[in-house]
Amino acid sequence: LAAASESGGVASYHQVLDQQSLRRLQLGTELEQAMADGQISVVFQPIIDARTSDIVSAETLVRWAHPRFGAIPPDDFIHLAEQIGRIGPLTDHVLDLALARCRRWLDQDIALSVAVNLSARCLSEPDLVERVQRALRRHGVPGELLILELTEGSVVDDSVRSSTVLADLHALGLRLSMDDFGTGYSSLSQLRQLPIDEVKIDKSFVLGMSTSQGESFIARSIIELAHNLGLRVVAEGVEDELTRKLLTEMGCDKLQGFLISRPLPDDKLEKWLLARTGVRSAAPGAQHRRL
Ligand code: C2E
Ligand code: MG
Ligand code: MG
Ligand code: MG
Repeated sequence: LAAASESGGVASYHQVLDQQSLRRLQLGTELEQAMADGQISVVFQPIIDARTSDIVSAETLVRWAHPRFGAIPPDDFIHLAEQIGRIGPLTDHVLDLALARCRRWLDQDIALSVAVNLSARCLSEPDLVERVQRALRRHGVPGELLILELTEGSVVDDSVRSSTVLADLHALGLRLSMDDFGTGYSSLSQLRQLPIDEVKIDKSFVLGMSTSQGESFIARSIIELAHNLGLRVVAEGVEDELTRKLLTEMGCDKLQGFLISRPLPDDKLEKWLLARTGVRSAAPGAQHRRL
């Protein structure tokens, strides 16, 4: 190690670190302005009913088109926003974009549920429930059409406080979904104490299903346990037909993944929706398409 610390390799390693923290620092200071400038947008990924293939909801995924750095993936700035205490405004911004879109679908007679990711930090913000309620009112969207996706850590770390917050959110009529299930340390029986409606099997298990028996076994176990507890199950990361078939046979309720659709900007999603619902809307008496 002593020898290595004298080598140029280590010096440049430190330089890289510095550049990275500089960039992070810069991104942190730019986040607020980026929201105001419209650099932060969202895309929507359709989620379908495994049995009927009807679209049941769309997950809102945030995107940052940076003028110099290009497209910055959420995994690179969500954590940063949490660290600098700006995750609240970012979440409000995403919720606003999602509900505005949901309202527009409603105006086109499409009652499509929209899912929004909540960072772990959000659950400890004292005014979260109020902000969600205000956003729903502002856009005139019924709570029934909103799904909030939470991660395991956020509810298990402080389960007493979070169960109160979750109950208050639930009381707004919205649904709660446990994201990335299987990667944390919570058990399904812990989830039973909380007003969770569905679990999303983490894509790390789903991606391996077509090639690994082990991953299939994990997916099957999650589905069976969740169903026994009265929870719906969504699989994310469905990329191939075999995985889709296996999950459907296992009784998985909903599917999401590149096989069905990549996340789409709203105009593309609208085209995707119309192409799929065009047939059904021709049905006699189909006035309100509840998707
Ligand atoms: P997530 O909530 O688990 O979202 C699913 C991620 O998997 C998305 O990545 C999506 O593009 C990707 N994905 C979907 N289907 C497939 C597939 O078939 N194959 C593969 N390989 N990937 C697939 P994305 O958009 O990069 O988002 C990454 C994570 O960033 C999200 O994971 C979520 O934890 C977080 N995130 C995204 N938007 C928001 C947001 O508005 N707020 C918060 N707090 N977190 C967000
Ligand atoms: Mg999610
Ligand atoms: Mg997920
Ligand atoms: Mg994930």
